[in-house]
Amino acid sequence: MNNQLEGLLKFIEGYLGVEGVKIFQVLFNSDRELGYSDIIARTGLDEQTVRRVLYELNDLGLVVYRRIQSPEDGRFIYYWFINSYGLNQALLNRKRLALEKLRTRLDHEARTVFFFCLNDGIRLSFDEAMELDFKCPKCSSLLVQEDRNPYVDSLRKLVEKLGKEIENERRSTSY
Ligand SMILES: [Zn+2]
Repeated sequence: MNNQLEGLLKFIEGYLGVEGVKIFQVLFNSDRELGYSDIIARTGLDEQTVRRVLYELNDLGLVVYRRIQSPEDGRFIYYWFINSYGLNQALLNRKRLALEKLRTRLDHEARTVFFFCLNDGIRLSFDEAMELDFKCPKCSSLLVQEDRNPYVDSLRKLVEKLGKEIENERRSTSY
């Protein structure tokens, strides 16, 4: 969760700058919804920036607001808070992207066949081995095909683990 949050903060910083991170963190660390004046006081940012960034964060689905009309002058008063559901979705999307990348790598690794020399352990890809007529470039003995790439196993486990995590979180956040 902390790593994911860090990733999200980096994303916000890249998208909205440090102001975005400041405002997001103030809301994230608050146990209640906050009005403009609270956020201005806690971030030291000017009102225009606070409003702009809040709308951007809202656009990203990370924060939401509740609006009430002042009984005195009829003006709208906004209270902002973190959109826990949107936040979970954003974190989930980041995980999905990571899983996609891992799957692509796994696919590639699983398809790649390696050849190696029994004498000195030199390991070559299929293409490299073919170019050498499947003979070791060092000792010329015949290269043998590797049973399986040990890297694939650990990669496969990681993909399974992440896949399960995503599935569990998807179930617990979809209501
Ligand atoms: Zn050799």
